[in-house]
Amino acid sequence: MVECIQAIRGMNDVLPTDSALWRHVEAIMRQTVYAFGYDEIRTPILEKTELFKRNIGAATDIVEKEMYVFEDRNGDSLALRPEGTASAVRLGLEHGLLTPGNVQRWWYMGPMYRHERPQKGRYRQFYQLGAEAFGVMNADIDVEMILLSQTLWHNLSLKTPLTLQINTLGTAPARAAHKKDLVAYLNKHHEALDEDSQRRLHTNPLRILDSKNEETQAIVADAPKLMDYLDDEAQLHFQKVCEGLQALGVPYEVNPSLVRGLDYYTHTVFEWVSTELGAQATVCAGGRYDSLVEQMGGKSVPGVGFSVGIERVLLLLQLQQENIIDTADIYMVSTPGEARLYALQLAGTIRKAKPHWRVVTDCGDAGFKNQFKKADKSGASVALIIGEEEYQRKKVSLKYLRDESLAQTEVAESDLLETLSKSILKNQLRRVYRKIQE
Ligand code: ATP
Ligand code: MG
Repeated sequence: MVECIQAIRGMNDVLPTDSALWRHVEAIMRQTVYAFGYDEIRTPILEKTELFKRNIGAATDIVEKEMYVFEDRNGDSLALRPEGTASAVRLGLEHGLLTPGNVQRWWYMGPMYRHERPQKGRYRQFYQLGAEAFGVMNADIDVEMILLSQTLWHNLSLKTPLTLQINTLGTAPARAAHKKDLVAYLNKHHEALDEDSQRRLHTNPLRILDSKNEETQAIVADAPKLMDYLDDEAQLHFQKVCEGLQALGVPYEVNPSLVRGLDYYTHTVFEWVSTELGAQATVCAGGRYDSLVEQMGGKSVPGVGFSVGIERVLLLLQLQQENIIDTADIYMVSTPGEARLYALQLAGTIRKAKPHWRVVTDCGDAGFKNQFKKADKSGASVALIIGEEEYQRKKVSLKYLRDESLAQTEVAESDLLETLSKSILKNQLRRVYRKIQE
């Protein structure tokens, strides 16, 4: 027997029963970023490995151990994109869109790839919605970004609130002064740190603040805080973000050990965290990256952005028992042969006149009883029946599947569209049937 080939571990299929929820979530996300005036960008899934290596930071989890890197047939080193910001900046620079004084608001959506240990909410191919804004130094754009993400949760009707955590990473000189003291402090506790953190002491000490190890966390609790090293500019910027959030009534928590896994962040960083997702608690993460554009070879253009893990949003919606099913509007029941061809033709006429109606034609050899069962299962509100007799007389029987008080009627082809529009479809057309289970 031939062995069936399975999908790659950590890379998921979306089944027909789940895709409607995906489309619903994606549609709301698109609608929301659109409403904030953001334009879509699409970048290739493959980029030169160097793009991520140089700009995400050599000592980050992503670059150290998570990237899918391979040589193509020319011997060039390519990587499956692990995130979207580096590609967005590359696109902007390559097409001359990131120039000082020029404001750009972009969004993207698509798959990202990281070789991590697959578990709930953590996959090797996962989807992100991202938003990036370039060219605004003012803290108001940080507030707009946070407001945009908050609007997403609102529009998605997330029932259990996410917590907004914010922090500031200040500017490079402040971070350098803090880093010096932090390393000195952590060196004193070297023996007690977990292995990863001991290594990071030499590569990326700030990441130790992010350690999940309990003993390390206890040491970190008393470590010098970056907050105490901020210069006036950084303090003022952070204060403005906090004031903006307060003015807009967005609740937040300041979390001094929030550092973010990528090197390019400056000033504001934030995360939206759920209590419902176990260890994979962060649904959305972002922040400001004022030196990235310059670091990548452009002029000095500030940036701020975030990305949302779409699977984690879906997990939250599923936890609140939300599912969305696509249902048919009309199911064509017919006898194989000439009547069937007439049914197919009629379905075509209906679809042309009403492109948003979902018209399913039964194409099998099953009898009427079986076809009606399928009609019912399709969720259609109406079955149109075309047997030999109906075909000969160019009439269609119309059976209401969701309302037993309405009797089956016969309609002439010429009246069909009008009858369908006027009668039940007007009230009962349920193109998307939202089912909230108790
Ligand atoms: P984590 O701490 O969970 O590893 P991260 O800091 O690596 O997250 P980011 O690079 O900030 O994540 O990505 C932004 C968002 O993308 C995360 O908050 C999360 O919702 C989602 N995400 C990141 N990695 C994965 C993954 N492997 N599978 C599913 N979603 C992910
Ligand atoms: Mg990660």
